[in-house]
Amino acid sequence: MNNIISTTPIPKCEPVKSYGPETTERKEALMEYDKLMNKVTDIPMWIDGKNIKSKRIKNISPPHNHKQIVGKYYEGDKKHINAAIEAALKRKKKWEEMAWEDRASIFLKAADLLAGPYRQKMNAATMIGQSKNIFQAEIDAACELIDFLKFNVKFMREIYTGQPESSSGIWNKMEYRPLEGFVFAITPFNFTSIAANLCIAPALMGNTIVWKPSESQIYSTKVIIDLLKEAGLPDGVINVIYTDPIMTSDIVFKHPEFAGVHFTGSTTVFKNIWKTIGQNINIYKNYPKIVGETGGKDFILAHNSANTKEVVTALIRGAFEYQGQKCSAASRAYLPKSKWKMIQKELLKELKTISIGDPKDFSNFMNAVIHEQSFNKLRNVINKVKKDKSAKIIFGGNTDKSVGYFIEPTVIITKKKDYFTLQQELFGPILTIYIYNDTEFDKTLKLINHTSEYGLTGAIFAKNRDVISAALKELRFSAGNFYINDKPTGAVVSQQPFGGGRASGTNDKAGSYLNLIRWTSPRTIKENFVPATNYRYDFLKK
Ligand code: NAD
Repeated sequence: MNNIISTTPIPKCEPVKSYGPETTERKEALMEYDKLMNKVTDIPMWIDGKNIKSKRIKNISPPHNHKQIVGKYYEGDKKHINAAIEAALKRKKKWEEMAWEDRASIFLKAADLLAGPYRQKMNAATMIGQSKNIFQAEIDAACELIDFLKFNVKFMREIYTGQPESSSGIWNKMEYRPLEGFVFAITPFNFTSIAANLCIAPALMGNTIVWKPSESQIYSTKVIIDLLKEAGLPDGVINVIYTDPIMTSDIVFKHPEFAGVHFTGSTTVFKNIWKTIGQNINIYKNYPKIVGETGGKDFILAHNSANTKEVVTALIRGAFEYQGQKCSAASRAYLPKSKWKMIQKELLKELKTISIGDPKDFSNFMNAVIHEQSFNKLRNVINKVKKDKSAKIIFGGNTDKSVGYFIEPTVIITKKKDYFTLQQELFGPILTIYIYNDTEFDKTLKLINHTSEYGLTGAIFAKNRDVISAALKELRFSAGNFYINDKPTGAVVSQQPFGGGRASGTNDKAGSYLNLIRWTSPRTIKENFVPATNYRYDFLKK
């Protein structure tokens, strides 16, 4: 044992590299991309520190080039799910008893490995497996994940230093124990960093994990595993299985040692998870922690005092970066009648310059949507709108899946306040615009607040401060992340802790101490220096 009362390295957000022409990072990223595209990567499960293969082999293809095979993964069954749970439980005691500085060192090392030798491996895998352009990969798979790894350590120490008062003769302490049992991480396809963080955050706090990634993010999962192995993560702390989601939930949610679920994904799936846990509540040794960040129907509201170019840039970046497949993506916009003509002209002019295709070609602003199921769903929505009299497509609407799952940035305009594309999360490059009368700004605030069931992100563009204040007030519960004169996407760890309420999730704010605290079960310890020796209080005296 040592006597160090340590601080932790002061983290700074990882600078985003530019990938401009002739930069070293651009050459390195392209080299790694080509290297990966020219081989077939073997991706076993990872249980108790061992690579586990099964007889059921599945191919992985890039969404932008679905005929090419770049990876093979091994699908697991019930015995793999049970083995992952057993491994997590077996490792638990040793991991939770490890000094917190040692746990922290592993993840800090992972952060530095990712900032250095793993950066382009992680970026290229995300570009290929999830069809992100280099900039989208860099802000997610490199920078955001590095920030999670570094800032989580800072937040952990801050939590541990939170100690109660002690009155005279007494010493009170708070011990932030991990949860009793194992944590189940269920992760989405759209952010490599979120997928990793859903395991890393509870693991850092001393928990052991069963991780079931999205089938569409397994290619970059391999790089996360390699990174954690190299950083020295002990066997069995994080156990990765590629198993059917329903079968996995069925086994995990019936286990008495199930201690918590860290979920990000769609609202319907999360509601089902919550319901199942509720139905099984008598099975568990503890009340499981349920943390889930889910869907959004995120808005941009422009006032007539806003600057046209600023609004148009936010609409394009907010709605169409990563093909609109961000939970925070702007998918509905409320624009003032007096400015609409100007905004429309600028928007259409800019949209015409956008090219879509393979992320290898750096001139492509947009790439493919994640898989055929998503492509078909989005194409059906577009076809429905095309036939509908209450809405009109003013840009895009074309789709092509001959080589990859490509969908044009599509802009719909409607006069119907509750048109389905203003209400439902579509999760693709589709933006719906509603034009309001300038005199009805206050009414429009109310409309935004009540149009959808979600409460994730939203933005107001205005120069007029009274208008900004009114929006902040009226839209207080419409967005867990609210932006003033900025697009509603691109939250940065430690700067804009992320999450929303209503149907968007439990709002446990990834990228802040608020998330980490959910993975603890604090124990209060009171020590009495001079215990009483007589039960009689003074008030009993005659
Ligand atoms: P999804 O709900 O289809 O899948 C998420 C995960 O749940 C996957 O691992 C999947 O295999 C698993 N799953 C699917 N059905 C299941 C079931 N019946 N039981 C248990 N697990 C099941 O979501 P997705 O398509 O991967 O991601 C997109 C969704 O995630 C969008 O709704 C988006 O808004 C949301 N999202 C939210 C945030 C946020 O922070 N709020 C961030 C990213 C993504």
